[in-house]
Amino acid sequence: MAENKDYYEILGVSKDASADEIKKAYRKLSKKYHPDLNKAPGAEQKFKDVNEAYEVLNDEQKRARYDQYGSADANAGFGGGGGFNSSDFGGFGGGNSGGFDDIFSQFFGGGGGRTRGAQPNQPQQGEDLQYQMDLTFEEGVFGKKTTIKYNREATCGTCNGSGAKPGTTPETCSKCHGAGYIQVTQNTPLGRMVSQQVCDVCHGTGKEIKEKCPTCAGSGHVNERHEVKVTVPAGVEDGQQMRLQGQGEAGTNQGGYGDLFIIFRVSPSKVFKRDGAEIYLDQPITFVQAALGDEITVKTVHGDVKMKVPAGTQTGTTFRLRGKGAPRLRGNGNGDQQVTVNVTTPKSLNHEQREAMRSFAKASGETVSGSGKAGFFDKFK
Ligand code: ZN
Ligand code: ZN
Repeated sequence: MAENKDYYEILGVSKDASADEIKKAYRKLSKKYHPDLNKAPGAEQKFKDVNEAYEVLNDEQKRARYDQYGSADANAGFGGGGGFNSSDFGGFGGGNSGGFDDIFSQFFGGGGGRTRGAQPNQPQQGEDLQYQMDLTFEEGVFGKKTTIKYNREATCGTCNGSGAKPGTTPETCSKCHGAGYIQVTQNTPLGRMVSQQVCDVCHGTGKEIKEKCPTCAGSGHVNERHEVKVTVPAGVEDGQQMRLQGQGEAGTNQGGYGDLFIIFRVSPSKVFKRDGAEIYLDQPITFVQAALGDEITVKTVHGDVKMKVPAGTQTGTTFRLRGKGAPRLRGNGNGDQQVTVNVTTPKSLNHEQREAMRSFAKASGETVSGSGKAGFFDKFK
């Protein structure tokens, strides 16, 4: 990750923006610049920048580090106490807990109405988590099935999240009578001031636990090592993300689980370049092949294929191999592979080749002063 980006500027928020403001700005911008929604030049880069900024500013520790040093350690894992690591990826699983539609549901879905932060004694959905998944170029093209593991806060199985010892139930808070907040009256020089505070007995839940659950000590949550089978759809690109509903952290007051966002990091290929479903390849050919025409063998992600080079092909000509690109994410076939041929000039000629070239020049009525022998400096290359 680049060190000098202003993450606050990228998200369009102030330096003292709240976590909520950052989240909102991120949702808005990642929708605006999503490569599948915005084909404008530069949109994809903006999308990546927005994701990068959010990864840092959404994490309290990284944000603090960034504020202090102007950068955040990009190698640190995601999520609180997660200890995520790509080496955690297990074998190929059978099931599938999140299809590709999930990627778009966050943008087009009904929104689900989160109640987080409203009334403290109401059910609150758990936090969303992020998980960075590194993929090879080929895995991005063809997708894969894998199992990921990470730590998360889960609902305590002993008390089902109530926090109360089995056989007992949480009672309505004796101090706030279930409201979750209390009114505090103060006498000030301006008169009596009444303000609301979160109840200090129940911490806003409105419930008082007399006998705490021995497993979770009354919190209703336990930290667990969680495993999810993930089907990475064929055709994902660097920076894209997928949402797995309910795979985030447990909520409070029976509020349900948050979601897991998987962000894909796809490595570039040494051979191919890729833009969406289109794949690009530079293919060297000899000037004889270019002049006389030939059938050559060309690499594609689907294996080697034969390609006809017509006689008289100029260097820089691009040929299209239909259907030999990457799968389209939405599932209607593959893109194409575009092969650009580059005519290479031989670096040295033997005697026979030189003679043939001279005959060729003569037949073309061309006078050439060169000897066909490599120059002094070339010999030492
Ligand atoms: Zn418990
Ligand atoms: Zn209370």
